[in-house]
Amino acid sequence: MPDAPPQTRIAIIGAGISGLAAAHHALELTRSRKRNTQIDLFESSSRAGGSIKTIQKDDFLIEAGPDNFITNKPACLALAKRLNLSDQLLQTNDQFRKALVLRKNNLLPVPDGFLLMGPSRWRPMITTRIFSPLAKLRMAAELFIKPKRPNPDESLESFVTRRFGRQALDRLIQPLIAGIYTADPATLSLRATLPRFLEMEQNHGSVIRAMRKQAKKTNQSKSDAGPRYSLFNTFTHGMQTLTDTLIRKITPNHLHLNTTVTSITQNPDQSWTMTFDDGNAHTADHLILATPTFITAKFLAPFNSTAADLLSQIQYSSAAVINLAYNRDQIAHPLNAFGFVVPTIENRNIIAAGFSSIKYVHRAPSGKVVLRAFLGGSMQEDRLNRDDKDLIQLAHNDLTSILSIRGDPLFAIPQRWPNSMPQYKVNHLDLIADIKSNLDQHPNLHLIGSGYDTGVGIPDCIAAAEKTIDKIFA
Ligand SMILES: Cc1cc2nc3c(=O)[nH]c(=O)nc-3n(C[C@H](O)[C@H](O)[C@H](O)COP(=O)(O)OP(=O)(O)OC[C@H]3O[C@@H](n4cnc5c(N)ncnc54)[C@H](O)[C@@H]3O)c2cc1C
Repeated sequence: MPDAPPQTRIAIIGAGISGLAAAHHALELTRSRKRNTQIDLFESSSRAGGSIKTIQKDDFLIEAGPDNFITNKPACLALAKRLNLSDQLLQTNDQFRKALVLRKNNLLPVPDGFLLMGPSRWRPMITTRIFSPLAKLRMAAELFIKPKRPNPDESLESFVTRRFGRQALDRLIQPLIAGIYTADPATLSLRATLPRFLEMEQNHGSVIRAMRKQAKKTNQSKSDAGPRYSLFNTFTHGMQTLTDTLIRKITPNHLHLNTTVTSITQNPDQSWTMTFDDGNAHTADHLILATPTFITAKFLAPFNSTAADLLSQIQYSSAAVINLAYNRDQIAHPLNAFGFVVPTIENRNIIAAGFSSIKYVHRAPSGKVVLRAFLGGSMQEDRLNRDDKDLIQLAHNDLTSILSIRGDPLFAIPQRWPNSMPQYKVNHLDLIADIKSNLDQHPNLHLIGSGYDTGVGIPDCIAAAEKTIDKIFA
């Protein structure tokens, strides 16, 4: 008997982690609910996984893109467990759990209990050499600064200077946040990126007061918590384990590589037809666009120019990750941390560096280390105009002067990520709300990925993808 035609056809464009997670969850629900669904995932390049890319070079494990995921947002950890990857989860090397910040060519520890925005403990703040005595007093005065009411969206710079003073922003908070969002603090939306700090201000009258309360609660609940994961996790064989496992579950029937979608059109019966660069076409009932927003905008332009124009307002910044390997004895610095961040005011070429083989074990053979330098971001994109050889040299020069390195790297692997970091600018959430309301008229069209209101991290992308599939199956 011939197979019955599918009840629902779902097509997904873009096989980064968002598209892969969507396709995988659609397959999970198809099986668990015994549904007859056709699932197709189209990817323009010859590999799926988007910016997740692990390279094995001899005995070195190199992360060319993301190097871990946060566990306090559960979607990635939960997916890893469903994929039977629990035994491959790798926690950070607790012995060196510390971050450093560059201050006038010295690497100083980020004060204990300083969580992105403010201190939850006094003693490390009093003793740190990052801030002047006056700046410390200014930061402590945060306890007495009244919340801004009403509180429209504001930039990170405006919030931090208002509550903690300029030095707190310039010397520590800017580089810590830049490490995540590669953003300009003068334009980064606090509400879209770090709303919990706004809530702290509004609900507790002070970020410091709220953080100290939170720290107390966390300490109390630690004793009765179940099995704990460190805040960041990766996989023994690197982040690509996640995407490779998803790919194995999805292929061969559902994943179409080297297939660039050039346009989409809606049919009178509400289904969607996408056209490929080879002239072929494919039709589906639900269409999920898991492409960067500037590509999604091009798809929408012919039939919803308003939504397309709004989408085009979301800007992306570019970055480069340079992995460099050294003999351990070439480096004088003790490398007793996970890495360091570099404030823009220090005027360097790199914006951060990770001590990869210290943060996670078994990333380099004994006696060797891998360091990961980041360049670019919206504040220093001009550095990326150089060729690869120059980029490696810029990274090596900065590492040499900061970590006291002798000689050249054993090897270096540069990886560029053009237009890869969506910038959540002030009023980003309003912009996304406008886009969504413009798309209400197309209920079978779904937009997912890091550019919207769901967050830029891997767990955020997975959560948004799975939620979209849940909605379709509901
Ligand atoms: C250097 C770097 C480091 C990062 N580090 C971390 C980290 O440590 N932890 C963390 O949680 N997050 C990190 N992130 C963020 C995270 O990796 C990304 O937000 C996430 O991978 C985005 O996934 P995505 O699927 O939404 O988009 P993408 O990965 O960009 O995937 C989109 C896909 O769409 C495809 N595509 C585009 N156009 C078409 C078309 N016309 N037809 C078909 N296919 C098309 C592309 O080829 C691509 O594969 C990092 C990002 C970068 C760039």
